[in-house]
Amino acid sequence: MSQVLSELVAELNAGRLRVVDLTQPLSPQTPLLPLPPQWNNTPAFRIWELSRYDERGPAWYWNAFETGEHTGTHFDAPVHWISGKDLPDNSVDRILPKKFIGPACVIDVTAEVEKDPDYLLSPERVRIWEQQHGRIVADAWVLLRTSWSKRADPKEYINVKEDGPHTPGWTPECSAFLAKERDVLGVGVETVGTDAGRAATFNPPFANHYIMHGSGRFGLAGLCNLDQLPPTGAVVIAAPLKIVNGSGSPVRVIAITP
Ligand code: MN
Repeated sequence: MSQVLSELVAELNAGRLRVVDLTQPLSPQTPLLPLPPQWNNTPAFRIWELSRYDERGPAWYWNAFETGEHTGTHFDAPVHWISGKDLPDNSVDRILPKKFIGPACVIDVTAEVEKDPDYLLSPERVRIWEQQHGRIVADAWVLLRTSWSKRADPKEYINVKEDGPHTPGWTPECSAFLAKERDVLGVGVETVGTDAGRAATFNPPFANHYIMHGSGRFGLAGLCNLDQLPPTGAVVIAAPLKIVNGSGSPVRVIAITP
């Protein structure tokens, strides 16, 4: 057996490594991304009982469910966006499984977001983080810690005003910096989508999706418990369902952390 793997198991059993669940509960109440009405919107998660130790199945309990691919805590594959539609291995079933595991760089902008729900992470702010915690390594997940997932009221979580949603995210320059100059695996957020609420007005619109997926990177939306991770040193495991030609899927995201 590999020494690293046996040590991993021993460290987990001893509690020196912890597994943190970065996933929000998935139910019909799970908040959904609201798109302007001219576009198809996603259905809510739906679940129905098939049997529960009864006449429909005397010894077993099971449900069926229906969901959009981009509901709750979920994975965005490059094929999700028009900019990534012709890339190789761009759907959830074809992404190399090695890419479902990567180190986490957690950038905490909770204080900034408390003052401004439209806060956007900039390359300058990333460089300040790097001065404290070291350069972002290649193939890392960059996770934007905003504490947004602590908003228990779905209305406050989606935060739609008269002019549309207001949630934090990334400047287009920051998405390009992380994709091209830091070679990230992808980015993760606590909000309902990986773009800021105002990103429909960006150039290009939904710039984070356009840039990340256009360069073969991934997205994780709807994360929580990022406050339980150190700035560096945790490892994220995010393996989407193997939906043939799928553009994404709800996912159980976990982190292994000291
Ligand atoms: Mn998505």
